Amino acid sequence: MSILQPLEMIWDEAMSFNESLNVPVRWKRAHRIGRMKRKVWADGYRSNSTEHVLLMEDLHDGRLKRKAGQFLCGTRITNKNAHLILNMGGDDEERSKRIKVDCPKCLEVAKRWQEKSN
Ligand SMILES: [Zn+2]
Repeated sequence: MSILQPLEMIWDEAMSFNESLNVPVRWKRAHRIGRMKRKVWADGYRSNSTEHVLLMEDLHDGRLKRKAGQFLCGTRITNKNAHLILNMGGDDEERSKRIKVDCPKCLEVAKRWQEKSN
């Protein structure tokens, strides 16, 4: 078995996983940007590697209400400027989904839509 999978295979797998979450609005995969010690955004950008569902549109589903720009799990956004530029801007939605969402809370919330689609 080769150690290195072609990148496309990894992307494909992540994208079909993310697709299966069945989130009903536009979203991106993103992580929380922490506070930065030195004034370099990249520091904060790297500091937390949990990958969340970041909503690009307002979401209302029963009692679940989130606004565009919030994480599905409700994780607080502590660095608003960096979040706006690096998360809301930055990668396009399609490209962001080449990495799997692995936040347990986001995945937990997304279960409701997976069950509906079955
Ligand atoms: Zn999350």
